[in-house]
This record gives sequence, C-alpha cells and structure tokens, in this order.
Amino acid sequence: MADILYTYKNQVYVNLTNECNCRCTFCIRNQEDAIGEAENLWHKTNPTLEEVLEAMKQFDFTGYTELVYCGYGEPTCALDILLATAKYAKDTYGLTIRVNTNGLGNLYHGRNIVPELAGAVDAVSISMNAPDAEGYMKVTRPKYPDAYEKMLEFASLCRDSIPSVKLSVVDVLPEEDIAECRRKADAIGVELRVRHFTD
Ligand code: SF4
Repeated sequence: MADILYTYKNQVYVNLTNECNCRCTFCIRNQEDAIGEAENLWHKTNPTLEEVLEAMKQFDFTGYTELVYCGYGEPTCALDILLATAKYAKDTYGLTIRVNTNGLGNLYHGRNIVPELAGAVDAVSISMNAPDAEGYMKVTRPKYPDAYEKMLEFASLCRDSIPSVKLSVVDVLPEEDIAECRRKADAIGVELRVRHFTD
C-alpha cells in the first residue's frame, strides 16, 4: 500500500489521492515515485476515509504541530475525506491544518467549497504558477479554460474566511513575472510566497 502519511523536512503530509485536474509540466510525479521519507506515493486505489483515519491512528504525531495535505494529487479532489480527517486530526491531536492546492476545487466540484474548507483548515497555499492566464495554461495544463481566473477567485474567497491564505510561485520565474504575480496577489489582498525550486 502506498504511503498515506509521510514526513518531509520535519513536517507531516497527507497523500490523500492521486487524482488531479491539472497536468503540470513540472509535476514531481513525472520524475519520482516518492519524496521525503515516503517510499511510494502512488496509490493502487485512492485511500478510503477509514484508511486515512487508521493511518493517522498509527502515526506518532509527537513533536509535530501542523498537518499538511499535499501529496501525489490534488487534495480537494477528495474533499469529503479531507474535511473529515482534518477535523479529526485537529480535534484529536491539536494539529493545525494546511492544504496545498491548485485552487481549482470550485471548478472541480461545481460549487463554492470555501465555506466547507473554512470549517476545517487553518491555512491554504494556492499554486499561482504564472503571472497570466496564457502562461498558466501552458505550465499547468488544467482541465478548465477559465482555470487561471477561477484560481484567483478561489484565493480571494479563501482570504475572507481562512486565517492564512497564500499564493505561491517558484523562483524559477523571471523577476518581472514574479513582480506581476505579486501585483495580482496584492490586488486581491493575498500574500505571495516565492518558493525555492527545490522546496
Ligand atoms: S496540481 Fe500538483 S499534483 Fe497536479 S499535476 Fe500540478 S503539480 Fe502535479
């Protein structure tokens, strides 16, 4: 069975699903079968709620304060399991909850999922990836033609109801592109995080 929980750089991650609604050119899944302490992040079948809960019960959270939903797939594609297990982890282990997402959950579910997320998570990090829709479509290759605009809309909806909301880009982008990303993030009142490529 693939790893459901794994650690990387002193953080605990949940590998909830291998489903994703993007095909990013840079996706780590195209290069390796695992990261951090995980051995294999490819599920034969995506885990059930019971399997994720069991993995949490088996894990020793001593010394960890945050649980991050971010594995070999898009966590909001398994929204029900994400919400239920995040609430369990928060109530049982006192962990804060972060979701690393492509921000396309509203498009995937055909409704605004932010109120549901707001009831279960403390932080959301949304991959912005590019300063405009054209660049975004080229690198993330999402299933939806209006993905860039909806990703930014998702970020602004999160801003109003989730304590920590960040848009993220990787520092391989040219400086002028990062500046434009920052301008767009500022315009919707969300902090931009510039990540190192190796993060
Ligand atoms: S959104 Fe994440 S998991 Fe999905 S293809 Fe892009 S990098 Fe990979």
